Amino acid sequence: MIQSLILPFFLVFIHLSSFGQSIPEGGYHAPITIPLILSSNFGELRPNHFHMGVDFKTNNRIGYNLYSIDEGFVSRIKVSPYGYGKVVYIDHPNGVTSVYAHCSEFKGKVDSIVRLTQEREQDFAVEIFPRKGEISLKKGEVFALSGNTGSSTAPHLHFEIRDTKTEAALNPLVFGFDVADTRAPEIRGVKVYSLTKDGYRFPNKSTVRTATKGRSGYYVSGNKITIPANFCTESGGIGIAVDVIDRLNGAPNQCGLYGSILIVNGDTLFGQRTDRVPFESTRYVNSHKDFEEYSKNRKKYHKCFKTTHNSLPIYEYGGNGVIKCSPGDVLKIEYVGYDPKGNRSTLNFDIVVSAGEMNPEDGLGLDLSYLQPGYSLQLENENRQIQFGVETVYEPLKLDESTLDTEIGKASVPVQRAYTIKVKSSDEPDGKHYIEVITAKGRKRTMITAYQDGWYHAHSKYFGKYSLKRDLTSPTIATKNFKSSTTYTSSKKMTWKIGDAHTGIADYDLFIDGKWYLIEYESKGSFVTFNRPSGIKGSKEVKLVVVDKVGNKKEWVKVIDFR
Ligand SMILES: [Zn+2]
Repeated sequence: MIQSLILPFFLVFIHLSSFGQSIPEGGYHAPITIPLILSSNFGELRPNHFHMGVDFKTNNRIGYNLYSIDEGFVSRIKVSPYGYGKVVYIDHPNGVTSVYAHCSEFKGKVDSIVRLTQEREQDFAVEIFPRKGEISLKKGEVFALSGNTGSSTAPHLHFEIRDTKTEAALNPLVFGFDVADTRAPEIRGVKVYSLTKDGYRFPNKSTVRTATKGRSGYYVSGNKITIPANFCTESGGIGIAVDVIDRLNGAPNQCGLYGSILIVNGDTLFGQRTDRVPFESTRYVNSHKDFEEYSKNRKKYHKCFKTTHNSLPIYEYGGNGVIKCSPGDVLKIEYVGYDPKGNRSTLNFDIVVSAGEMNPEDGLGLDLSYLQPGYSLQLENENRQIQFGVETVYEPLKLDESTLDTEIGKASVPVQRAYTIKVKSSDEPDGKHYIEVITAKGRKRTMITAYQDGWYHAHSKYFGKYSLKRDLTSPTIATKNFKSSTTYTSSKKMTWKIGDAHTGIADYDLFIDGKWYLIEYESKGSFVTFNRPSGIKGSKEVKLVVVDKVGNKKEWVKVIDFR
């Protein structure tokens, strides 16, 4: 017992010192030189991914200098109206890459290479991989300003550290940055599930309790949770998940859990430590968290068990966390949640298994109507072919073949890897077809189709009702910061609202007297901005062209006198 209780401290100590070896002498330069206050930490649960970096607050404004945390060279620059927006990647000599996302603008050589590339490709969205040594930076050198571009919804710096070789995201909070954190994780609830030996949850066999903070750690009412005997099976058992968040100093923001340990009857059974998340497996967050609690109730249940196919490298102690049980058992549960600074919270309770019959059904989805993780499957009729790869689902999913023409799986069930939908149609292929899937929240997801021998096909990462459609609607363009009747302007900035009803915007270009000029597209505000270079004067034809993903085009043309 004593041994298991001191384990968490021991672990935190060991791993800090092992990461210490990759910190350069004198430490890293801060990426931003205002107090490092986090609005999000590494490993936070997000839709379809873990948060792969930390978000530093920037006082609700843009334009702070961004500093290279160490000497190095710029290895990648990307400009996109989505995701990371304007982002810079810097490779450092000790084998890590630092990433600075949502920048408002670039500086120096980074800025000039982006402008040249945008001119050459006649595109705002560019991705550049400078040669090694092409853009060298000294430790603490400024290369960009903080911003709010891409999918960012408020000004901040999204900062990542990656392993240069594997590109796996590493937890920046173990690299010695001056981030104050004296607050322990907050445990809010605990859930007990009936599980198969593979860690799959039996439907409707779980129970939830609220966790309350007491003098000696968190507790549940009565210090015990009683479960029915039929939660137990011959080869499976039970598992627990804990609704837990963390906060750091200086901000009220809810952050994510770093580490946890589950001890059952004095034996350490399962652990999580979120030091490294590869991009290939980040979507397994859908299996790590209680997906339904997250999507319906925004609760942050971290499972203390894993399914056989969950490839996240964040788990410890080798097992899958399934706790063996029999009717009449009393199991002593100790849960420890901790952060990188060693702040920890504990939750202790007993699981009491009632007397009675075990569940005779010793597995899930054993008949052929189930799509099983680890198995591929094809469903087909005269007009449809649905091909599922081995990594489509996280848990067995019952499929209903009778609705195959209009619906696949369940909209509320997450998908790990895209599956293929093939729809037979006599429609002539004119490049305008797409497949639409309606998600659990009613959102329409559109997939561009390919056509072959009478079949349209597309790949979907969503289950739900689907249909083959044609997009014949052109994008829309409206003036934003000036009247549509404008014939002259002295303004240095012109903005237009652009949109597209179905497949979405693929390209946008501005021509003045036939010459291409850079416009910046902000997808979240659905507008494009033209910052007029000082040389443009006099009466000119201004043409804005917007094209959607199936090639429908809209043009806005007007003669404007630039003053
Ligand atoms: Zn972020």
